[in-house]
Amino acid sequence: MAKLQEPKYVYMGGGLRLWHEATLHIGCEAVTRSVNVFEGLKGYWQPAGPFGIVQLRRHYERLRRSARLLRIPFETPFDEYEKALAQLVEVLLEPGRDMWFRTTLYAVEGHWGEGTVADLVITGYHQDMRVPDPIALGVSTWRRSPDVSLPARIKAGSNYQVARLARMEGQARGCHDMVLLNHSGRVAEATGSCIVMVRDGVIHTPPATEGALESITLDIVEALAQSMNIPFVRRPIDRTELLVADELAICGTLAELIIVSSIEGFPLDVEAPLLRSLQERFFRAVRNIEPHPFVELSVLTSKMTTAR
Ligand code: PMP
Repeated sequence: MAKLQEPKYVYMGGGLRLWHEATLHIGCEAVTRSVNVFEGLKGYWQPAGPFGIVQLRRHYERLRRSARLLRIPFETPFDEYEKALAQLVEVLLEPGRDMWFRTTLYAVEGHWGEGTVADLVITGYHQDMRVPDPIALGVSTWRRSPDVSLPARIKAGSNYQVARLARMEGQARGCHDMVLLNHSGRVAEATGSCIVMVRDGVIHTPPATEGALESITLDIVEALAQSMNIPFVRRPIDRTELLVADELAICGTLAELIIVSSIEGFPLDVEAPLLRSLQERFFRAVRNIEPHPFVELSVLTSKMTTAR
């Protein structure tokens, strides 16, 4: 997965700053103990409209939940969060290019949970408008940490230490991404996305209680599948089921819906008829070509129009 290009501006400390001026002090808990929670959001350029951010309110709400679980104060109301994003969109947006945003709460003051103060930092990266190519997936020897140590439900930077190790393991094995199993040896998720598997015409995905983030994209995929009359089931998935799957994909805000071409070296059908039809429907929805009632697109302008 390609490295993101540095943007010119960043939102930090309540306003816009140049990228190289957006720094944190080495003494703050965000640096010393990785105290931060974040959201990755995607904005799509739309043929019939300017630019829409997908499920903005849901991302805001998940950020609040992550912050609450890590006891990071986050008082910013939704409309201020939206305005902050709009400020950055206004200076960074380029016609015909999508964007991926990272909205992070860094603990900039406080000590072991006392007197914690967080700063909302937003970075935005340009992305080309394209349907992602299929990828080779492996199963990592690293495990997703259980709910009693580092809950997958909390979208914290520290949760990605294991993901980073798994990706490096994957690189050594020629895999683009890796599946993390949970401590019972069942499928949890990939390093930065969820797993969707087709068997016998039914889409399966593990429930979040198996050690996956409560994915916003997965809820979209479920809603799209329902309206396309494709059965969608959340249930635990064994490791070997991945190897005998009819079709496999990873899904998430940044990944969107990426078809898997092989798993642990076993080739998979890249035609993937069910998942490709969902992928197509997904892009039609997020680009507002064929809107779907579940998919909310927030159009942010300097005057701040809101969700349709
Ligand atoms: N799991 C992990 C570990 C992730 O980082 C992501 C991306 N946010 C997902 C799953 C998918 O979540 P979402 O669809 O909300 O982006």
